[in-house]
Amino acid sequence: MKAMILSGIKDLTTTDAPLDLIDTDIPEPTGNELLLKITASGVCHTELDEIEGRTPPSRFPMILGHQVVGRITSSGPDAARHTEGERVGVAWIYDSCGTCQWCRTGLENLCPDFRATGRDAFGGYAEFMVVPEESVYPIPDVFTDVEAAPLLCAGAIGYRSLRLAEIRDGQALGLTGFGASAHLVLKMVRQRYPDTRIYIFARSPKEREFALDLGAIWAGDTTDESPERLHAVIDTTPVWKPVVEALKNLQPNGRLVINAIRKEDHDKNYLLRLEYPRDLWMEKEIKSVANVARSDVSEFLKLAAEIPIKPDTETFVLEDANTALMELKQRKIRGGKVLIMGD
Ligand SMILES: [Zn+2]
Ligand SMILES: [Zn+2]
Repeated sequence: MKAMILSGIKDLTTTDAPLDLIDTDIPEPTGNELLLKITASGVCHTELDEIEGRTPPSRFPMILGHQVVGRITSSGPDAARHTEGERVGVAWIYDSCGTCQWCRTGLENLCPDFRATGRDAFGGYAEFMVVPEESVYPIPDVFTDVEAAPLLCAGAIGYRSLRLAEIRDGQALGLTGFGASAHLVLKMVRQRYPDTRIYIFARSPKEREFALDLGAIWAGDTTDESPERLHAVIDTTPVWKPVVEALKNLQPNGRLVINAIRKEDHDKNYLLRLEYPRDLWMEKEIKSVANVARSDVSEFLKLAAEIPIKPDTETFVLEDANTALMELKQRKIRGGKVLIMGD
């Protein structure tokens, strides 16, 4: 099979082709694994974090990709939950220990042995992959393979962020940063909490305009004060400034949910602007979102099909994965980038 592999940490200021195309054997499913013939594989910002070493793969070479859609072509001797030919998706959670306190209580995203697809196990930048049967999800019929792929990461993590924000219908919610995940969160909120007022904080006037079109009632700059105090704010930016700036807009008991796998260091000094009385006093709370649990993926896919959420996408053949990644790096984004595999 064809696969695009990462052989080590790469500096994307000196190379624009971090992945290499190889021809390798199709993997054999063992135990409860399924073999998927991949048809579509989303390209995520986290792949850049892996390539540049902020979230490095646990071994090399690695096949990246954690938003995978494919069909089951065969299964290991202990697999029993799915049938051959079924169309399924794979998300960031590849597997976890299954026995620790977190795994036993639906918080397998926090398992010390959590393994991520495309970071700790081979992922979707290939024609085939194997995956444990509990880590695949049926794709609702309303989605094409390409439409489903971007939902498996940004959507599922957005869904978890919204869960952790613990808002009720009618409460005010802020979103700081308005990329793929935030825009899906906005659509979910409109469906689930129709009376909730959504406030957007974004640097780009284009993003602010887009948010208002989608139903936000107010959109301002990252540093602006919202016209009302918010029950929760979800941060989807890679930097610190929006964290500090969001806290002042929270109500007493308000919660800031940080949905970012890593924060960049370049504006870390901004944290010194944190003022305890304004930003933290009155039981304000900060919580991060770590990974996704399986229930986030399956519940989100159902919700997305109901709404329905149909992401804008832009497709690339597998061999052009480097082009897709570099465009993401340069923020040339016209929709979720998806690799497609020919027959
Ligand atoms: Zn992702
Ligand atoms: Zn565990």
